[in-house]
Formats: sequence, C-alpha cells, structure tokens
Amino acid sequence: MPAPRLAAYASTDVGRTRDHNEDTVATASVGAGGASYEAWLVADGMGGGVKGEVASATARDRALATLVAAKDWSDPPRLLRQAMREANAAVFDRGTANGELSRSAMGTTLVLALADPRDGACWLANVGDSRAYIYAGGQLRQVTKDHSLVAEQVAAGIMTIEEAKSPEAPRNVITRAIGTDREVEADIFGPLRLAPGEVLLLCSDGLHGLVADEEVAAILQARPLREAPGALIAAANRAGGSDNITVLVAGWSEGGTATQVELPPAVAVARERRRGVRGYAWIALGLAGIAAIVLTVVLLLAGAGPGAGGKEQAPSPTAAAAESTTRQSTAAAVESTTQQSTPAPATTPAGAGGGQGSR
Ligand code: CA
Repeated sequence: MPAPRLAAYASTDVGRTRDHNEDTVATASVGAGGASYEAWLVADGMGGGVKGEVASATARDRALATLVAAKDWSDPPRLLRQAMREANAAVFDRGTANGELSRSAMGTTLVLALADPRDGACWLANVGDSRAYIYAGGQLRQVTKDHSLVAEQVAAGIMTIEEAKSPEAPRNVITRAIGTDREVEADIFGPLRLAPGEVLLLCSDGLHGLVADEEVAAILQARPLREAPGALIAAANRAGGSDNITVLVAGWSEGGTATQVELPPAVAVARERRRGVRGYAWIALGLAGIAAIVLTVVLLLAGAGPGAGGKEQAPSPTAAAAESTTRQSTAAAVESTTQQSTPAPATTPAGAGGGQGSR
C-alpha cells in the first residue's frame, strides 16, 4: 500500500455579489539542501478598483519567490518572517510607486503555511483576517488571530462575540495588513503536527464570515479532501456569497500520488531565469503588454472607477495619501495585467491531479 502523502486542494470564487475577485490562493514546493517543504497561502486584497487584486497577487508572488530562492532551511519560522516582510515591501512599493508616501492605499491579508511532507510539521505566518484552522476529531480550531477591529474589541472586552457576529459589526476593518505600511510584523504559529485524518484549512473571510464553524467541520467530515473546497465555497454562496471566497485544505492522502503544484507566473519566470532561460520572460512581457493595451481600452470604454464594498484599512492618518493613490488607478490597472496575462493558479485546485483525497 502506498504511503500517505500530504496533498493540498484549493479553490477561489468571486461570490454572488462582487464583480471581481480580490482573493488569491497558491501552493509551491520549496526547499533546498535536502530540505523539502510545501508552501500554501491565501491572500485577500483591498484598496478599491483593481488595487485589491494587484495587492494580493503581488504579495503571493513575492512571498513564494522568497521561499523558492531561500537556500538555508534550518529555521522555517525565520523564512516565513522573511517572506512576509518581502511581500509587505513589494506591495508597499507598488502602492506608493508614484510618490513619497508614508502609507499605501493598497494592502492585503496573507496567511502563509510551510509544511514538512515527511511528518506533517507545519508553521504558519499571518497578517490580517484570513485564517488558518485545524480540523481534528470532528472539531474546528482556529489557529491564527485576526488583526481586525472586531477581534481587538472582543479581546479587549469592549464587544461580545455575539455582537462581533452581528451584521452591524465593522468586520471588514482590518488593523494590520501586508503593504499598507513600510514595516509589518507577522504572527508566527507552530510547529503544529498535522496527523492523519486532520485537515489544515486556510480561508478568507468570505468563508469564515458566512459559514459557521460547525458547518465547516461537518463538510470536512463528510467530504473527501479534494471535494472540500468546492463544497465549502457552495456553502458560503448559499449563505449569501457577499464576499470573495477562498479555501485551501491540506491533509494526508493515501492515493500515493505527489501533489501537483502550479506556481504563479512570477515564480515560474524566476525559476526559468535561474536555469538560464530568459526567453520566457520576454514572451510573458510581450503578452502582458498586449493584455495591458486591451484592458486599458476596456477600462476607458467602461469608465471603471474604484469598486464599492470590500475590505477596508483601519482609518488612515494620511487621507491625502489614500486620495493620491486612488488617482493612479488607471496605471495600477495596466500593471495588474502582468499578473493576469497567464492563467492564475488561484482558480486551479492545487493538487487536482493528486491522490484519492481520503483523510
Ligand atoms: Ca474578503
């Protein structure tokens, strides 16, 4: 009988009320010098217009590129901190590209996991209110702590858990994000050990804000791992689908087939460069250029402005900074097509070609 292997499955969905998806999800196999890890992440961007998508994609690409390039794997938590710092710098630089601003109007949540496929040891890094949970013994346990106004008010005793769940609660206000400030400190959790039958769940608030923990646990109990992302997204859409929904589940599969990993375009290009093949970068650049022109025309025709709704930063001390970056929305739109010119890994269930997905 083939030995169980760690498998991850993921999916993302725009939901039922938003017109575009600012979430992203990705997986990568990383490691060097005999160490090998699976990296899994979920990011939920914010900023209005296309800035949310740009922020989450930028954070995703830089975080994974940092891990792909890492040589010393003796201290995985240190690498997680470095990946979160690099992701923050990349989004901040992009959000302040046309001015000397102290705060960027672009930001994203990021929850990033590293798992050792030999023994299921996992480390997690988090900024924002996307979450990591462990499902074990029929129960869902939240691992990460939200950096959100309601979570802080509940922790401070200002708000009850019931009040925090009410529709009036300002649940979309997050107090720490990747890319809004020059520096960010990520929370690190672990090591946790993912045992057979247990599931690591990463998700955006489009899932955990709409579907109760008990229902999530029931779905994880009832469904094979590979069906869980679709079933969880369907549950969030049944509950209204008022936000983008992103889910990644990871656990032990007894199918014996290696997890298939799709890297985001930027990471794939970085890997090709390391092998000395530069042609792909120019092809990608050319395609991105064409896509940028097409999108610019579409945006001009549609008269697209900043989108309504969505995640918000905590009130900014520099309102002028936020306004000045809003005016750059067309430039940001053109840049964003670099991310979108190739099929995003976000929509591909990670490990779709993997094993039986049994837990
Ligand atoms: Ca969201």
